[in-house]
Amino acid sequence: MRVLETTVRASEGIAVGRAFVVDRCTASTSYEKGAPEVEQNRFEQALQQSREQIETLAADSEIFAAHLEIVDDPMLSDAVVAHIDEGDSAHDAVLQASAELVSMFEAIDDEYLAARAADVKDIFARIAANLTGGVKNPFEGVAEGDIVVDAELLPSDMALLDFNKIRGFVTAEGSATSHVCIIARNLSVPAVVGLKGILSEVKSGDTIIVDGSGGRVVIEPDIATLDEYKVRELNHKALLAEQQQAAGAEIFHNGERVYVFANAGSVEDVERAIAAGADGIGLFRSEFLYMQSSVEPSEQQQYEAYLSAARSCKGKPLTIRTLDIGGDKAVPYLGFEREENPFLGWRAIRVCLELRDMFCRQLRAILRASAEGNVRVMFPMVVTLEELEQAKELLEQCKSELKSQGVAYDENIKVGVMIETPAAVLIADSLASHCDFFSIGTNDLVQYVMAADRANAKVANLYNPYSKAVLRAIEMVIAAADAADVECGMCGELASDTEATELLLGMHLREYSVNIGSISKIKYQLNNLLK
Ligand code: PEP
Ligand code: MG
Repeated sequence: MRVLETTVRASEGIAVGRAFVVDRCTASTSYEKGAPEVEQNRFEQALQQSREQIETLAADSEIFAAHLEIVDDPMLSDAVVAHIDEGDSAHDAVLQASAELVSMFEAIDDEYLAARAADVKDIFARIAANLTGGVKNPFEGVAEGDIVVDAELLPSDMALLDFNKIRGFVTAEGSATSHVCIIARNLSVPAVVGLKGILSEVKSGDTIIVDGSGGRVVIEPDIATLDEYKVRELNHKALLAEQQQAAGAEIFHNGERVYVFANAGSVEDVERAIAAGADGIGLFRSEFLYMQSSVEPSEQQQYEAYLSAARSCKGKPLTIRTLDIGGDKAVPYLGFEREENPFLGWRAIRVCLELRDMFCRQLRAILRASAEGNVRVMFPMVVTLEELEQAKELLEQCKSELKSQGVAYDENIKVGVMIETPAAVLIADSLASHCDFFSIGTNDLVQYVMAADRANAKVANLYNPYSKAVLRAIEMVIAAADAADVECGMCGELASDTEATELLLGMHLREYSVNIGSISKIKYQLNNLLK
């Protein structure tokens, strides 16, 4: 029996089964290198072949539809051609460009961009395979109930690997925010990722235990361990079934409704969240529209996206957060300058109040969508009352323009503020008298209260949402909202943590905006606490 452990928590749950170790060997990677023009030609052909494959796959896969948008980004080919010009073979140039661009994306602390890094890696892997003998399906032969063991699972693997067929997976690389882990959590597939050394410890056919909750993998367990984990697997499944039953419930506390909303990063997320029982969307991260595109999305494109999201909510609230970019979330076509302290720099509402035309295009798109749905608008990173006032003034200006053009919108659209800076906490009473709702963004609030970068592992011990200072800040915000009779929710990660639910409920938090995979868990937890 061998046990490997990691501190990464990818997807909880227990799975016991037979290991299927993925063989990714493609045909020989060595071919005779030609002159740069020959290599460039080879690259162009492989790129074209990859584009055609992706086009076919994109017809019925969201993942590949996203790849289609990325594959033609000149950033990809420019990086490869630069290496070919330096004398590399097309294959080596693709591998090098892949490593560079992927690490560039991965260095950014943003779930959406982290997922893009995996897409880029995936596309480069396809081009590399096309340069050396073609792409094969590495999951051929996976049997019902197998546990997949691989170096890393990439987004395109999701289209080839049936997650409903396998019991779990283990990878040597990867992080908890990767695309596959998000999907695994949403589908409750136990997983352990970032387990260095797993590939040299396990072979196909071995009995293997995946303990996603403990970040542990047991290979060839002894009888006692196997029996123990089989019981734990059954218990976990029973718990999931109970949680699932709670997903549709409407929750009340002392006669007041307690809402479990979801956080969404795309229109598809909204659909999945509502199907999973969310009472609405507490945070719709509008950045994806700007980051997926190589130019600013037009008002019409934004309107269409917000409208489909609003329709998918079926009358439940859709809280659209206005553009939260800048700092670590760069949008190349806006030409942001490099900053020494991006998290303390030009981001979110600060950018929008300067780039007013762009901001108004977004506000008008949101207002137009509000005519057909229960849409709320929310401003990120507010630190002064003046910022809120200016943003509201622009909103009113957009309303008047639409009115004069005879375009419909919700005159009473609710306006909210994200409370994610210590300044906003300290002036929460003033902000409350100028808005309809708050949403506490603990992801940023923790880093600003504790002066600990949310992406810096060296200060992870300080980046603690349970710190006395953070909890006190949360309590103050809820109290200020209550005093002004303003709704108060939380959309930071802390809202998805079942261990925090009792504490937050005790502080009178009435809206929990959580990850899609946590909707049923938080509802179940609330139901249990309120029994
Ligand atoms: C937050 O800061 O808690 C939040 C939800 O916003 P983001 O994670 O997008 O910065
Ligand atoms: Mg934030």
